[in-house]
Amino acid sequence: MEKVQAKKSLGQNFLKDENILLNIARAVDVTKDDLIIEIGPGKGALTKYLSKKECDLLCYEIDKRMESFLEPFVSEKVKIIYGDFLEANLKKDIIRPYQNIYVVANIPYYITTPIIEHLMSSGLVISAMVLLVQKEVALRFSAKPKSKDYGYFTVYLQHYFDIKRLFDVSPKCFSPEPKVISSVICLKRKDKIVPINEKNFFAFLKKAFQQKRKTLHNNLKDYAWEKIRLVLEKNDFSLNVRAEEIPYEVFVQIYEALN
Ligand code: SAM
Repeated sequence: MEKVQAKKSLGQNFLKDENILLNIARAVDVTKDDLIIEIGPGKGALTKYLSKKECDLLCYEIDKRMESFLEPFVSEKVKIIYGDFLEANLKKDIIRPYQNIYVVANIPYYITTPIIEHLMSSGLVISAMVLLVQKEVALRFSAKPKSKDYGYFTVYLQHYFDIKRLFDVSPKCFSPEPKVISSVICLKRKDKIVPINEKNFFAFLKKAFQQKRKTLHNNLKDYAWEKIRLVLEKNDFSLNVRAEEIPYEVFVQIYEALN
């Protein structure tokens, strides 16, 4: 097989530890009526395990040089699209209905958030995502209130998913080695997602977290403070509370009190 130089600009750190690969692939339990989406299959290290599962597999790889590594996996069940995942029209690419759609990937770190945003705005119902990301990002996604990592995106993700950091991955497990520790994170869709006007709820959350150092009161000047105050008091929060101290459930209560 031809030697392909890893491109830093595409976040190419290829996984070489078979145990880690196996554990990532094992994190989802699928049937033949399911689909796995893999973003950035690269030379196919993870694709090798995912393609052995019963379900269909749809991969997006931006680097056409990977074709010779990936073509052996192509089958009736496994499809590879060469192009930028962020430009992909997922609804168009997924040609038949599936019971569950999963995303399993060692993603390029430089576009972690855009990838999740693209998946979320695609309109697909994703049952779970198992992603290898920078540890720092994993901590942010799975952060609890009162920690420095807790922010707007944490609460946004918690609206849809139960989020767990599964295990850390040392730079030694990759080639070339990244400078940072990585973590495998699982975002599992909640059984019941709170019915809410999501566009308005997320706009409200963005406002709440707008200036991290400021109190909620300061950030939410345009909202009816009296109603917010009642919810804070009911939940034993000081009136000087900051957004980063408030759990998802209390944000929902505040939003609902305002509407
Ligand atoms: N899955 C392989 C592995 O674990 O060894 C490769 C992972 S590597 C961290 C990320 C992969 O994503 C690379 O193959 C890179 O070419 C690909 N990639 C980078 N940006 C992409 C994009 N916008 N759309 C699709 N693939 C992309």
